[in-house]
Amino acid sequence: MYDPKSMKAEEFIDHGEVEATLAYADANRNNMPLIRAILDKAREGKGLSHREASVLLACEDEGVFAEVCELAREIKRKFYGNRIVIFAPLYLSNYCVNGCVYCPYHHQNHHIPRKKLTQEEIVREVVALQDMGHKRLAIESGEDPVNNPLEYILECIQTIYSIHHKNGAIRRVNVNIAATTVENYKRLKDAGIGTYILFQETYHKKSYETLHPVGPKHNYAYHTEAMDRAMQGGIDDVGLGVLYGLELYRYEFAALLMHAEHLEAVFGVGPHTISVPRIKRADDIDPSAFDNGISDDTFAKLCALIRISVPYTGMIVSTRESQAVRERAIQLGVSQISGASRTSVGGYTEDIRPTDTEQFDVSDQRTLDEVVRWLMENGHIPSFCTACYREGRTGDRFMKLLKSGQIHNCCHPNALLTLKEFLLDYASPETRALGEKMIEQELLNIPNPKARETAQKYLAEIAQGNRDFRF
Ligand code: SAM
Repeated sequence: MYDPKSMKAEEFIDHGEVEATLAYADANRNNMPLIRAILDKAREGKGLSHREASVLLACEDEGVFAEVCELAREIKRKFYGNRIVIFAPLYLSNYCVNGCVYCPYHHQNHHIPRKKLTQEEIVREVVALQDMGHKRLAIESGEDPVNNPLEYILECIQTIYSIHHKNGAIRRVNVNIAATTVENYKRLKDAGIGTYILFQETYHKKSYETLHPVGPKHNYAYHTEAMDRAMQGGIDDVGLGVLYGLELYRYEFAALLMHAEHLEAVFGVGPHTISVPRIKRADDIDPSAFDNGISDDTFAKLCALIRISVPYTGMIVSTRESQAVRERAIQLGVSQISGASRTSVGGYTEDIRPTDTEQFDVSDQRTLDEVVRWLMENGHIPSFCTACYREGRTGDRFMKLLKSGQIHNCCHPNALLTLKEFLLDYASPETRALGEKMIEQELLNIPNPKARETAQKYLAEIAQGNRDFRF
């Protein structure tokens, strides 16, 4: 039985409620008065329920789609401004005991080289990432209690935070590792992680069990309830995601929003981020073997609808997507992207990497400098900001600031300060010239005059060679 406040996966993601939502959406896909009312509600910027949003997803009217896209742009601007936060994944280990049928790290893949970074190799990887200009990482690992126990992950986090090469530093480590216990989430929290990210892959229980035939990840309830345990362990910021292509996208979309509603109902704060990965070709994985692939248009529609349904949640698009797809997605509400990513263990350091351990093909292969320049050419401010969680602005404290619009007095100047650092320490002359111009113009868009003045002071400090100023 559907109950968003229940702590049981099968009750807060009740299959019957998802099916009823899809039937309701089908019955109302051409119900223009209802669709108008839903669009009007979305315009208030307070979000939509899974049922309301599912009606918009089912509706095939081009005019409605255009309106949804326009609204997504407006809401993105209102809550997130024109900033795009940049990060990179760091693969620690591809040892894995699970059998996920879409992932080349599945335990039956005997020909892929298995690799786990030593602490010394992590130092070299992180120096390479710092030398590009990265400040924010998402660490990735397979699940293997013997080869990659939590102690290993914690040691890696400590190593990453300890490395300071030239002006470089990794200031926020987000973590994408398998579902674990409340006790382990507490330890991750104590290690100073940013967001805990775990993709649901699919919310459809039966499909989930078929797609994860063996290993601890087979347990649907344990996986689906992971965010509750993470929050009970004190992690305020959690990141959701579905791997599109595995199941019917409309099912996943409704269930994803139900998951967000559940977190809001139980903990008073929804997900910090939602990622929108699609299955990609990989070592022994052929995406066409999965029947539920979605087109670029459907992908764009999903991005826009997630944006208007959960206006306060950050949205992430990785380098799984091409430049063109990313260009569209960031117009429609995406607020974070990865750049210059390598999805193999040791991917940033030529002589660490075994021949082929890529988790999936990367579509956007540009350098970080190229990504930064491209963002600015498209009117977005590239941001390397990591200030919020370092200033204790996590969970509901972050959400309160976001909802009140006050966030523009911290995030906007912080984006400019971290961009300035990037321009001085890592950018090509062309990118630097463009960036300096952007900073000058965008300073005027800091709403509070006092904050503007302080930002100017900090920018002057950065020009003098000092680093890490933040609001
Ligand atoms: N092992 C961890 C877990 O079980 O949740 C997470 C780390 S895994 C490196 C990160 C994500 O990559 C997975 O959750 C999955 O959604 C995604 N992934 C796996 N295979 C993929 C593929 N072939 N194409 C695109 N994404 C893939």
